Amino acid sequence: QHTQHCPPDGEEIGRSTWLFLHSAAAYYPEEPTSIQKSAMLSLLRSLPHLYPCHSCAAALGEEYEREKREGTCWNARGGGQADILEQAVGKGQTLRRWLCGIHNEVNERLGKPVWECREEVLQERWRDGPRDDSCD
Ligand code: FAD
Repeated sequence: QHTQHCPPDGEEIGRSTWLFLHSAAAYYPEEPTSIQKSAMLSLLRSLPHLYPCHSCAAALGEEYEREKREGTCWNARGGGQADILEQAVGKGQTLRRWLCGIHNEVNERLGKPVWECREEVLQERWRDGPRDDSCD
């Protein structure tokens, strides 16, 4: 016997996916091994093909292409430089900032508040919790 659950809607899928991605980034090392780098690269590259909302996946793929052409806020060179995603997975902090930026791009599109992509803010939200220990 199993209890009955409703299938997840788009909001739940989105929240759960961000939860997984930001958490994986929060624990991603400053000096990842080549295996960790290539695994994270595959994960990020797979999203525009596998994310279970067609229009969201297509928009994400377009955002990857836009970054490739124009760069990101932290690397504004653009123009066919070494793959942005390859740079993003090079260090924990870089990955977290990049992911925060991608999430913000979706937030902006949906009219949701944009987050501050500072390391302290991100690690408090996704790994360390607030200083007042209210999450312990
Ligand atoms: P979410 O946006 O799910 O965020 C969860 C939590 O993350 C927030 O409560 C906050 O604590 C934290 N957070 C918010 N912003 C950031 C940030 N920048 N960095 C770090 N942490 C942050 N929905 C659509 O309708 N259209 C789309 O095109 C679309 N594309 C998506 C693409 C991807 C790759 C993913 C994973 C989701 C997408 N979604 C899309 C779903 C959408 O982003 C939300 O997940 C959903 O609307 C639920 O929103 P929410 O307000 O619960 O918070």
